[in-house]
Amino acid sequence: MKYVEFPEDNAAKSGGEGKGKSDQQNAPQGSGAQGKGPSGNWFWTILWTILFLFLLNGLFFPAVKGSKVVETDYGQFVKDVNDSLVREVVIKDSKVFYNKGTEANDTTYFTGEVNDPELVNRLVAAGSPNPDGKIKFVKKIEQKNSPILDFILWWILPALIFYLIYVFMMRKIASRGGAGGGLGNFMSLGQSGAKVYAEDDIKTRFSDVAGQDEAKESLKEMVDFLHNPKKYTALGAKLPKGALLVGPPGTGKTLIARAVAGEAGVPFFSMSGSEFVQMFVGMGAAKVRDLFEQANKKAPCIIFIDEIDAIGKSREGSLSTNDEREQTLNQLLTEMDGFDANKGVVILAATNRPDSLDKALLRPGRFDRRIQMELPDLEGRKAILKVHLKNVKHEDIDLDVVARATAGSSGADIANIVNEAALRAVREGKKAVTTDDLEESVETVMAGEQRKNAVISPEEKKIIAYHEIGHAMVAAVQNNSAPVHKITIIPRTSGALGYTMQVDEGEKYLYSKEYLTNRLATLTGGRVAEEVICGTCTTGASNDIEQATKMARAMVMTYGMSERFGMMALQTRGNSYLGGEGQLACSDEIEAQVDEEVRSMIADAKEKAKQIITSHIGKMHEAANYLLEKETITGEEFMNILNR
Ligand code: ADP
Ligand code: MG
Ligand code: ZN
Repeated sequence: MKYVEFPEDNAAKSGGEGKGKSDQQNAPQGSGAQGKGPSGNWFWTILWTILFLFLLNGLFFPAVKGSKVVETDYGQFVKDVNDSLVREVVIKDSKVFYNKGTEANDTTYFTGEVNDPELVNRLVAAGSPNPDGKIKFVKKIEQKNSPILDFILWWILPALIFYLIYVFMMRKIASRGGAGGGLGNFMSLGQSGAKVYAEDDIKTRFSDVAGQDEAKESLKEMVDFLHNPKKYTALGAKLPKGALLVGPPGTGKTLIARAVAGEAGVPFFSMSGSEFVQMFVGMGAAKVRDLFEQANKKAPCIIFIDEIDAIGKSREGSLSTNDEREQTLNQLLTEMDGFDANKGVVILAATNRPDSLDKALLRPGRFDRRIQMELPDLEGRKAILKVHLKNVKHEDIDLDVVARATAGSSGADIANIVNEAALRAVREGKKAVTTDDLEESVETVMAGEQRKNAVISPEEKKIIAYHEIGHAMVAAVQNNSAPVHKITIIPRTSGALGYTMQVDEGEKYLYSKEYLTNRLATLTGGRVAEEVICGTCTTGASNDIEQATKMARAMVMTYGMSERFGMMALQTRGNSYLGGEGQLACSDEIEAQVDEEVRSMIADAKEKAKQIITSHIGKMHEAANYLLEKETITGEEFMNILNR
């Protein structure tokens, strides 16, 4: 006979299952956790105990399970009883469970128990589909938990759960940044958790770093020291404990530090300054301690702290005191004093904000050697191109052209340009990278992708063409200006609708006043062409205006190139590597006069540009029409038109 599954059977079954499962799982967990150490084992045991207790709990408080349990109302129940439909009734936990109809209907109905004194009489009197015509009914005896179990369930268990969560979080924190004296130890739960790994087999070599010869020269000495310290100690020479790599972003500071480790063949501990600054006070300092401890064990080796300004920021003058950073810095200073340089631990650090570093870091005995990494010059850029081109298939590349076009780029920019060129070559189905790809990718990196399907009306195209030709004309006619390299009116994703590329003949270290004045005129050339030829002025000149103003201001305030102020410094220098603005160092009246001076310089430049354009108006039309037709023309083509 098949009986309907009543809720208590369900619960007993699931409870039993759960118990079996927890037993099963416990065995492999216990053995599997051996690798995790004793505390791991312990953790899982408790977890499974809790799970087991929960399931045990389920035995006493069964949940109504199964899809075939349906709630009805008491009226329906009474009606079913009166209609002699009910086979069996179970009253439990203030609920009335029953099933009705033939045995094929195995749905269990339930409703709340109502204070109904007549119920028993009615059940006895009613008929039923059962063979004997009677309803089976039963009220389950309520099972009370033992007081001990209650105590465990309501007091011990929640406490345990919270404790476990706490422990678990502490371990997470400890493993992220803890160290010797960190919270991990306080909880006496396992190791310090500091994750300072030394890289052992670094493949980077000095040959991977192009240019930067002075920096390499200086670092070679350190490599030599790491190779045979005796040569130095015999003579009584001490090597600098630390060297600070200073330079703009992307000039290869990180790269060259790795190269030092690679050349010396020693372990390389690398960490970024920001990794020391943790959520909890004391963790950063503990990490520094741990780092030096491990480095001492592995000596000779190299410790590299990248972006050291994150912790080494000057302590004075900062309004908000960051205790954590300060402690970390103090710990670093102490460790640097404490270790013996002759053991062969070399500390390298990199930053692009040397001016913000704490003086204590820079004093002799700490980072006493300063290695300058500058933006590469023409030869440097060629060398970097060569290094990166080694990794891509390429045809004969005119390095000179590409290197010229990338004036002011860092090593990282050039690496990016080479990669873009390779991607472009793949896109176009070429077998190898060509000079064209590289030139195009220079533009992509500087101005964004070409927007081939941008729709620009013919009138607008005409204005853009005259604007660009205006720049080119003013640049070409003033012979001191760099010749035009390329003019294009293909819009770019950066928002540029067209541009004129000027490329210097050689590398320039000094800019004369004449050069800058000419450049100022060139910058105004676009707007002048709009005004003179199209009789209008457009928003397209906004970038020109910005650049011209910046340049004129710098000429007046920083380079002392104005008659009115002469060599008076009107602003302090900002961060030279990150292009920061300087701060004004003059009175309000002078500032107003500076504005006036800048205005008149730009007005003069514009007047000069106007003269050039009006006197070459025929050539302007000719060149603009040619540009409209071709969309992109080279400097040579432009000069051909000009000199025709
Ligand atoms: P940073 O000075 O900001 O630390 P990186 O060392 O991280 O710069 O340089 C980023 C990438 O730029 C390097 O991985 C490398 O590919 C490239 N790079 C930068 N400078 C050079 C260089 N002098 N020679 C070759 N590649 C360079
Ligand atoms: Mg770096
Ligand atoms: Zn312009």
